[in-house]
Amino acid sequence: RKSVVRITTGSQALDELLGGGIETLCITEAFGEFRSGKTQLAHTLCVSTQLPIHMHGGNGKVAYIDTEGTFRPERIVPIAERFGMDANAVLDNIIYARAYTYEHQYNLLLGLAAKMAEEPFRLLIVDSVIALFRVDFSGRGELAERQQKLAQMLSRLTKIAEEFNVAVYITNQVIADPGGGMFISDPKKPAGGHVLAHAATIRLMLRKGKGEQRVCKIFDAPNLPEGEAVFQVTSGGIMD
Ligand code: ADP
Ligand code: MG
Repeated sequence: RKSVVRITTGSQALDELLGGGIETLCITEAFGEFRSGKTQLAHTLCVSTQLPIHMHGGNGKVAYIDTEGTFRPERIVPIAERFGMDANAVLDNIIYARAYTYEHQYNLLLGLAAKMAEEPFRLLIVDSVIALFRVDFSGRGELAERQQKLAQMLSRLTKIAEEFNVAVYITNQVIADPGGGMFISDPKKPAGGHVLAHAATIRLMLRKGKGEQRVCKIFDAPNLPEGEAVFQVTSGGIMD
């Protein structure tokens, strides 16, 4: 049996909430509104995954599937410097691909799995996992097919996590929740319905606080106590 590796988020408070960091062998989902820090956490994990194990890293390479075009290599540089790593070496170990349709996204995963069989990867990012599905299946009456294709994609991600002992970090959008109750103003819930709820082992809800401050709440995780962590979004990545 492969043993789980926990990769630091850059924030001690957030790591403690997660029981040590983002875990390999399963899917961790972060959802939250625009600017809540989902992508900056992805950038930070791109670097921290490459740290040695004794520094709470994963000692491995990173695969990044970007569906929104928001990955910025120049954002990696100050994060690498903050961790005392060579930025060019860090960038060389991030395999990046931009996906334009849900089918493209799926095919990229197949290609990455082949690469992971040959090289030591420790993290796979899909930012965002659902955006293309919402575009490609936007018509009325397409929801059932969308959910079926989404389930297929997520099952592929689970398989990659387990086969290669990789942490899978996916981001998700929030949608209006008309059933949110009359006492909750502006109710929101994660997109993807039951299919995503079932696939993601650890579900994190991010929200904005004051200034650069962000709050992460455990939305669903079988082995973690309920709770929140406050962290900062900075150019050096996520930190306390
Ligand atoms: P999301 O992916 O949830 O929409 P982001 O991670 O892109 O959110 O952004 C979170 C916050 O980080 C935003 O407030 C943004 O202004 C800030 N941010 C983005 N890039 C940088 C950076 N290089 N330095 C500092 N803050 C940044
Ligand atoms: Mg983003």
